[in-house]
Amino acid sequence: MPEPLAPLKTPVPSALRPLAIQASVENLDLAVGLHLEFGFDIVLTASSDPRRNPYATLEAASRTFYERTGSYAQLDANRYAGPNRKMGASDLRVDWAQKQIQLGAPLILTDAGYIDGDIAQVREAIASAEELQSILDKPVLATLAVAAPMLRNFRTELVDLVGNSTVSIGLALGHAADPLSSIQVVGALIELLSLGKVHPRRIDLSGIGALAFGAPGVSIGTTATLRHVYPAKKGGGNTSQWWSTLVPGTMSWRTHDKVMDAASTFTDHHFWQCGCDYCFGRAISIAIQSEAAAVLHNFATIKSLAERVLSSPDSRLSWFEMCQHAQTYAYEVMSESGPGWEPQDYLGAWLSNKPVRVPN
Ligand SMILES: [Zn+2]
Repeated sequence: MPEPLAPLKTPVPSALRPLAIQASVENLDLAVGLHLEFGFDIVLTASSDPRRNPYATLEAASRTFYERTGSYAQLDANRYAGPNRKMGASDLRVDWAQKQIQLGAPLILTDAGYIDGDIAQVREAIASAEELQSILDKPVLATLAVAAPMLRNFRTELVDLVGNSTVSIGLALGHAADPLSSIQVVGALIELLSLGKVHPRRIDLSGIGALAFGAPGVSIGTTATLRHVYPAKKGGGNTSQWWSTLVPGTMSWRTHDKVMDAASTFTDHHFWQCGCDYCFGRAISIAIQSEAAAVLHNFATIKSLAERVLSSPDSRLSWFEMCQHAQTYAYEVMSESGPGWEPQDYLGAWLSNKPVRVPN
């Protein structure tokens, strides 16, 4: 965990309120810092290790978060992730839902397990959440953590089930790398988002696109582990000794050693120059000298990219243009700096879903 965040009061404009940040209870200082400095809403995420007493630890983190910020976090029990995850949607804990109300959580998240290919379990996850909603007087978000190929394989069924749901859906996608690297998965996601009640959780920068396409809320993860759900047998995440820096020009996370290497060979000033509230027009290779600086830049950049898309008169078109520029730039950096700078697959997957004319 880097040093506490330096003063940089840049509140999230009201248009960005649906953009939350998903952080682990183990990174509580970061969660507090991101809320205080940027105003992002926070989704606190329990440990996926049952030996760490996830519910009690999450409850304690929620209280500490409130003491330090005066605000309430959303609470993700995270039963659907990790090597010992719960499979399937049955057995939601009513006492945990009631506990979230006591703790002041603004949205009550169900503690459903992971669904790997069984559409009947999706029906069950939604029905159980609806049942909970009928006895609770705060809005319930049905956690739907599914293997990403289900969006491709059960698109019609998912659209029907979600469309008929009386509760909002918190959709987290499982995949070994990037769940949104598939054209068909992004296509299905766009259709689900058009229903106006799907909140992507544990998502990467595609969360900005999701907001442009009608998501009432998204939560973007602070770490690779929280930007999608890894398969049960794979840990995943950045194992480099370097921190990750978000490179706005390519809309990708790169370890900082790679950023410095590429900055010495690919010298396009406009590419490296960053307009975020931390870098303030400096090149990221110069402005970012520590992990703490990278954290400020990373989240200021997420905020500024989201602001650019959502303040545009046509957010969807603006998102497609941003993906297009990032993809083009990535090819240029790759041609000068070599492997490791290939465009992120999600960019192409979104672009392949761009209509010839984006309807108004
Ligand atoms: Zn920056």
